[in-house]
Parts: sequence; structure tokens; C-alpha cells
Amino acid sequence: MPSVASGTPLFIANNLALDFINTTYGMGLRHCDCFDDDSSVLEWLRLAGILPDDCRRAPAGLAKLARALRDNARTVILAAKTASPAEPVVINQVLESGRPTQELAWDATSNEFKIVRHRHNVNAASLLEPVAQALVHLLLHENLQLVRQCEAHDCTLFFHDQTKSHRRRWCSMASCGNRMKAAAHRARKSGQ
Ligand SMILES: [Zn+2]
Repeated sequence: MPSVASGTPLFIANNLALDFINTTYGMGLRHCDCFDDDSSVLEWLRLAGILPDDCRRAPAGLAKLARALRDNARTVILAAKTASPAEPVVINQVLESGRPTQELAWDATSNEFKIVRHRHNVNAASLLEPVAQALVHLLLHENLQLVRQCEAHDCTLFFHDQTKSHRRRWCSMASCGNRMKAAAHRARKSGQ
């Protein structure tokens, strides 16, 4: 029996990098990990819409690198939120070794030049590079006050609050929102 259950991928964060960090969730006995092995990471990339069409087999070491990137991404996000330094070692490694080449090319359909990106080859870093890019974009261009974790005491999920009021509190209303509201209601009742 594995000590950690395999998880169902959740896409609740409104952000690719945060959905990636959210691939491990739950505490104690309910701890889940969506990245059991290389093929489960490949499946997550497909669900996230960033798996290249021509990639059908997971390159070796994909799960190992994905988990390392996830740990590093979480550390860096939490540090950035409190304006503290952190070493983006794995993020930089993925940005560097997964970097696609780009070339300027004429597009005969739109009659204008465009940038075409090519991957050198399909390896673990090149598949994870879009996740690292999404993280860079989040760190550099978004308000990190709106990157938060679910307020439920037993939930670790991150989300990017894109509501107009910026008052999103839960990973999802259907799970933690209702659960915590029911608990608060019970607490109020027992306090009467
Ligand atoms: Zn939650």
C-alpha cells in the first residue's frame, strides 16, 4: 500500500501554476498526490491543456522533476507573498533546460510575421516549461495579495482570487465553503 493516496486532479485555482501546486492536497491520512508516476503527470498536463499533440509517452524522470518543481514553486510563492527571498533553483532549471527555440516566420494565412516556438526535444523539462512560465508570470505580473490558500483549517489549496470583490475565501464553495459554514453554524448553535 502506498502511504499517499493518488489524487483526482483539481482545477479550481484560476491559474495554471497554482493548479500545479494543488496537485498534492489533504492532510494526514487524507493526503493525496496526483503525481504518482510519470504517466499521471502526463495525464495532468493533458487535462491542463498544455501537452503537445505529438507527445504520447512520458519521458523518464517526469514525475520526479514535477514534484521537485512543485515543492520549489510552493516555497517561492509563499516567500514572495511575505516579501521574503527564496531560491528558485528547480524553476530556473526547468526554464533553462526546457526552453524552446523561437524563430520569426512569415504566416501566409494572416500575411504577417509571427513567432514560432519549437521544442528541441520532448524531455521532462520541456513539458514542464509552460508551468514554470505561468509561475514567472504570476510572480511578476499579478497581485500576490490575491494569491491565497483556502481558509478551511484542514485545506491547503491555493487559488488566484479573480472575483470582483476580491473576497474569495474557499477553494470551492461546494466543498470547503459549505463545510466551514455548516461548522460555524453548529458552533453558533451550541454556543447559544
Ligand atoms: Zn478548501
